[in-house]
Amino acid sequence: MIEKDEISAIVERYEKDKVAVGTLGSHSALNIFKGAKDEGLRTVCVCRKGDEIVYRKFPLADEIILVESFSDLLSSEVQDKLRRLNVILVPHGSFNAYISMDALLNELYVPMFGNRTLLSWEVDREKQREWLRRAGLKTPRIFRDPESIDRLVIAKFPGAKGGKGYFLADSPETFREKVEEMVRRGHLRSEDVERIYLQEYILGVNAYFQYFHSILLDDVELLGMDKRYESAVDGIGRIPAAEQLRIGLNPTYTIVGNIPITLRESLLPEVLRMGDATVKVSKEISSPGIIGPFCLETIITDNLEIFAFEISTRIVAGSNVGIGTSPYAYLRYGEGMYMGRRIAREIRLGIESESLERIVS
Ligand code: AMP
Ligand code: AMP
Repeated sequence: MIEKDEISAIVERYEKDKVAVGTLGSHSALNIFKGAKDEGLRTVCVCRKGDEIVYRKFPLADEIILVESFSDLLSSEVQDKLRRLNVILVPHGSFNAYISMDALLNELYVPMFGNRTLLSWEVDREKQREWLRRAGLKTPRIFRDPESIDRLVIAKFPGAKGGKGYFLADSPETFREKVEEMVRRGHLRSEDVERIYLQEYILGVNAYFQYFHSILLDDVELLGMDKRYESAVDGIGRIPAAEQLRIGLNPTYTIVGNIPITLRESLLPEVLRMGDATVKVSKEISSPGIIGPFCLETIITDNLEIFAFEISTRIVAGSNVGIGTSPYAYLRYGEGMYMGRRIAREIRLGIESESLERIVS
């Protein structure tokens, strides 16, 4: 594990008037780059060959480092270059998806905005659940043994990226049938069947709350909200029920995009308390707790109960719905605030108050 002191030493050597914000070119990179530009910082994109078109058509990256694959971020050549450019990396979903957590924790000697230790909690559903429960949040029931399935459950597996291949089952028999089908369709490898995670399916609507914990201002801010747009589950309503039954539809939950939402105001007290409680526990888990953005992924039932089923301890792509301005960021900051910019603002504050080492790891 790379020690915080090692990263602090690197940041100490950075030229403070040339600090740049860097990230992998995918997920929420445009959000992050635009935010950095709005705050007057330089930007560096580690871009996969073939994806440059994005950063040419949306010219927000001052520097583009072309790589064959995202894991090349770990090469000493790319790391050297990033440090020479005084880069602070902002991690997002593609970091977890394309680079192993082990490598992120042990091999990446470039300062990252946020608390690296907590990033690793994101890939472990059990640890996440423990954290959410310690914070007093309601969470869905877990079924450890498929034979005990006695209600509708959602099956998730470790390799699943963005809900691809998630499926529903309501008995041990339907579970076995669906597993076979998922393996046949190539969504699931047979060696992963053992590691399927079964969660009670909460009937309601999904809502993803985007928060920001400012270490420098000592506050938890609610900056945005979204819901998911998923294929094929969100397309099912367009097919009449008779056809659905005839073709034996079995939808999965592949993320395709995000839709902004605002919440009934009477739900806000709980949502705000949930954010505060999550941060409080994070300080006990790994001091100084979450640094910067995080997201609680929830289902809200028709009794207006909020169940949290996951936490992301980094910027989520759902915050892209707020690029420019999100209603909640607007309420707090006025026009022009959004997650990418809020991150850059914290980095700028860190530079100005000579406390950059407090917000990187
Ligand atoms: P990508 O770079 O698009 O392959 O995404 C990296 C990871 O982030 C994958 O696990 C995706 O499922 C997730 N992801 C990408 N875009 C979104 C989005 N708009 N909303 C939620 N998750 C996303
Ligand atoms: P995720 O990839 O974990 O963000 O979730 C993918 C999809 O599954 C989203 O539409 C969620 O709303 C849905 N989902 C995940 N867990 C549950 C659950 N326990 N109950 C109901 N829906 C869920």
